[in-house]
Amino acid sequence: MIAKKMMPLLENNSAIRAMFEEGKRLAKEYGQENVYDFSLGNPNVPAPEAVNQAILDVIGEEDSVFVHGYMSNAGFEDVRETIAQSLNRRFGTKFNQNNILMTVGAASGMNVILKTILDPGDEVIVFAPYFMEYGSYVRNYDGVLVTVAPDTSSFQPDLKGLERAVTPKTKAVIINTPNNPTGVIYSENTLREIGRILSEKEKELGISIVLISDEPYRELAYDGAQVPYVTPFYHNTAVCYSYSKSLSLPGERIGYLVIPDEMEESSRVMAAAVIANRVLGCVNAPSLIQRVIKRCVDEKVNIEAYDRNRKLLCDSLVSMGFQCVRPEGAFYLFLKCPEADDKHFSEVCKEHRILVVPGTSFACPGYVRISYCVSYEQIQRSLPAFEKVAARYGLSGKEA
Ligand code: PLP
Repeated sequence: MIAKKMMPLLENNSAIRAMFEEGKRLAKEYGQENVYDFSLGNPNVPAPEAVNQAILDVIGEEDSVFVHGYMSNAGFEDVRETIAQSLNRRFGTKFNQNNILMTVGAASGMNVILKTILDPGDEVIVFAPYFMEYGSYVRNYDGVLVTVAPDTSSFQPDLKGLERAVTPKTKAVIINTPNNPTGVIYSENTLREIGRILSEKEKELGISIVLISDEPYRELAYDGAQVPYVTPFYHNTAVCYSYSKSLSLPGERIGYLVIPDEMEESSRVMAAAVIANRVLGCVNAPSLIQRVIKRCVDEKVNIEAYDRNRKLLCDSLVSMGFQCVRPEGAFYLFLKCPEADDKHFSEVCKEHRILVVPGTSFACPGYVRISYCVSYEQIQRSLPAFEKVAARYGLSGKEA
C-alpha cells in the first residue's frame, strides 16, 4: 500500500517517536520536573500580547466574508505590501507585494521554491550541520542532496567545500542563519563570498543556481548581533521566512517566500511558485493569521528569556569543561561530545534524564543539540545532572 519513497520516512519517524515516548516514560517514572527535555524546538515564550489583541480586532473590525474567504493564491495583496514595506524599511531592499508569496510557514515556503525549480536529479547543496527535514523536502521533488562537511572551528559554511560541491547539476544551495542546530549567524563576509562563488560558477558552467535562505530564526539574535539580509549579496536568492519563532506562532503555520526582481525570470518564477503553492494543496496561507500579520508586522517575541537561558546554559556547561561554539542566535546550543559517538553520549545523558538530539541527525556526528526554548527553572534543575555527566567523562571545570 505505502509508496516506496515513504518507507525511509516512516522508519525514521519511529526513531523520533521512540524518543518522544521515552521522554514520556521518564516523566512518568521520575516526575516531569525531574526530566530535562531539551529535544524539541517548540517556542516556550508566549506570542506578543499585540498578536492576541490583533486576532480579536480582526474578528471585531474586518468583514468576516473577506477575512475567511478564498483569496489570490499568493495571499492578501495588502498583507504582502505591508511585509514588503517593512523589509524595505529594515534592510534597504526595494520589494513590493509582487515579490512576496504568503506560505504555510517556512517548511511550506521551502517546498514551494523547491517544487518551482527542481527537475529530477538536480542537486541541492546543504552545509552540515543542517535541519534534517531538508533531505525530505529535496527528495519530495526527486532532487539529490549534496552535503558540504562542517567547519567545526566556527560552524560558518565551508566556502572551499562549496566550490568543490558545485557541479553542472547544481540547482540550489540552502543556507540557514541564525542556524539550527548551531545558533551561529553567518557573517556578512561569508554571505558575500557565497554570492561571489555562486555567480562565478553560474558563468563558468552556464547554469542558474538559486540560493535559498531559510530564515525562521532571523529575529532571534543576541548581544545586538546583526543578521545580514541575503538578497543584496546574490541575484538569484529566494528567502523563506516564518513567524513560527519570531512571533511564537508555530501552530498557526504562517510565513512568506521572497522572490526579488533581481532573480532571473523573476515574475515567471513567482507565477510558478504561486501555482506550486496551489497544487501542493496549500491553496493559500491561512487567512485570519495573514490579517493579524498585517497588524503586527514589526512585532517580535521577547527574546530576553531565550537570552537568559542561553547565558545560563552556555556559561554553566563551559564551566563544567564542555565545549561549544557560543550561539549568537536561534535557541539551540551545539555541544561537542566528550566522546566520538554522539548517539552513545545522548544515551549517557538520558541515564541522567537529560534528553538531547544526537548531531548525527544533523549530519554532524560528535555533537548533540540542546534546545534551550524551555523554562529557566528547567535549565537550573538540569545543571546537577549535567555535572554528573561531566564527572563521568572526567571533565575538569574552569571559571566561566
Ligand atoms: N527551517 C528550520 C531551520 C527550522 O528549524 C524549522 C522549524 O523548526 C523550519 C524550517 C520550519 O519552520 P516552520 O514552522 O516555519 O515551517
